[in-house]
Amino acid sequence: MTRWVLGDALTRRHIREGERVLMVEAHGFARRKPYHPHKLTLVFSAMRHFRDELREDGHEVDYYRCETFGEGLDAHFDARPEDTLTLMEPASTDTDRLRELVESRGGSLEVAETALFLCDDELWSDYADDRDPPYRHEEFYRSMRRETGYLMENGDPVGGEWNYDEENREFPGEAYDPPDPPRYEPDALTEEVESWVREEFSGSYEENGGDWAAPETFIWPVTREQALDALDRFCEDRLAEFGPYQDAMLDREWALNHSLLSSSLNLGLLHPDEVVETVIDAAAEQDAPLNSVEGFVRQVIGWREFTRRVYAETDGLADANQLDQTEPLPELFWTGETDMACLSDVIDGVRKRGYSHHIERLMILSNFALIYGVDPGELNEWFHAGYVDAYHWVTTPNVVEMGSFGAGVFATKPYAASANYVNKMSDYCSGCPYYHTKASGEGSCPFNALYWDFLARNEEKLRSNHRMGLVYSHLDDKRGEKLDAIRERAAEVRTMAEDGTL
Ligand code: FAD
Repeated sequence: MTRWVLGDALTRRHIREGERVLMVEAHGFARRKPYHPHKLTLVFSAMRHFRDELREDGHEVDYYRCETFGEGLDAHFDARPEDTLTLMEPASTDTDRLRELVESRGGSLEVAETALFLCDDELWSDYADDRDPPYRHEEFYRSMRRETGYLMENGDPVGGEWNYDEENREFPGEAYDPPDPPRYEPDALTEEVESWVREEFSGSYEENGGDWAAPETFIWPVTREQALDALDRFCEDRLAEFGPYQDAMLDREWALNHSLLSSSLNLGLLHPDEVVETVIDAAAEQDAPLNSVEGFVRQVIGWREFTRRVYAETDGLADANQLDQTEPLPELFWTGETDMACLSDVIDGVRKRGYSHHIERLMILSNFALIYGVDPGELNEWFHAGYVDAYHWVTTPNVVEMGSFGAGVFATKPYAASANYVNKMSDYCSGCPYYHTKASGEGSCPFNALYWDFLARNEEKLRSNHRMGLVYSHLDDKRGEKLDAIRERAAEVRTMAEDGTL
């Protein structure tokens, strides 16, 4: 019997003392997409650190570096014919495919429950019962609060409300100086992986259309010790102001008060229950505002669990495209070359470190792609390749559904917004050559023309949505010459994006 540990399941919770462990570094997998060098460095370095720690603790670890899982399994079953492998249920990989790979080599596969998510089948069916989609996050989140007991008092939510989001939309002002985010400088092993990644994979991300030139120094936690330190640093430095400024965006402040824990959670270096419990305890000690703590808990036991479940329950979500959007992703998503201050800064951050925070992902990047008309599948590929925390189970619901309104499986309306939103929640517009107040003509902000053009293009599909009534009445006010000029500007913006002159 051998414990098979996948690269995004680096947890000790399911490994018994002295148990033999199998790990396979499958390089072909990494060659298939134009992955950001920091994403590949993170996964391979974290795997190798995990291997070394297990060995130090007396585990026998068979670690194969090869092209495919199949090759690794060939080597394993040559050495240990008819072995039984035990695997923790993966979030993105199809278990049937893995079973086939194992059984075709004469082995057998046992699948154990995941330790990396809290919502098991029973909890999901308590929420979903026999309901058909659309699934509703808020109801799911409340059932998770009840089941876990987090922030609950005598069966009621602490403070009397389930959700304090209305207090979490403040803009701190341009002069706001948030605490520095932690950086975990590469050790010798990470440095070795990083230079090997550059040699081995730079060709494939360029061949696949990627252009991730010049990422800055790698900073992400690659061990559990570092991830736990990142959790402590979040609690000490940024938790109290996490809530109010959660939706804010500041030029040159890439982290604000976000936790930066997604890459560690998604690799298995941290578990969601310990993250939430640590945060709740720290909040009690510091008397941190409830809107900050509840806002954070909601992201982890709400959105993170919800997206993983929606991914598992929804066939064909990756290909969903109910708005029939077909535009290719503009090249500037790879190069960051645009005069638009918001897009340029956020894409620059992705190129440098494979990260941007939630509202930048939703209201700058995917909002732009949505109103531009980008094919959701192509956008999903870009997010999947570019972010250090990206895996198919989490990008697909976030990008295809939340960001692109691909299926309506949980989103009630598209997250489409004009420059008005960007100006309210950021300091980008004051330093941008485009005018956020203009909707058409030279120099007008592309977000405006694309936004109204998006509504006009999709009127047949969206007008009847009761949450869109108000915006369509505003569109009606523009009909005639105004809308013609706006749509002309939208066409011009697309041409500029295609020419690389936006
Ligand atoms: P915080 O803002 O500090 O939030 C705390 C934690 O909550 C995160 O670490 C994450 O684990 C969880 N979380 C918050 N929102 C979500 C969400 N919508 N879905 C799942 N988990 C959530 N998250 C990823 O983990 N990987 C992705 O590839 C990813 N791609 C995204 C793409 C788009 C278009 C959008 C709109 C969202 C995406 N998200 C993704 C969700 C969210 O943006 C990130 O989890 C978050 O920005 C990570 O940064 P953080 O750790 O500082 O998060």
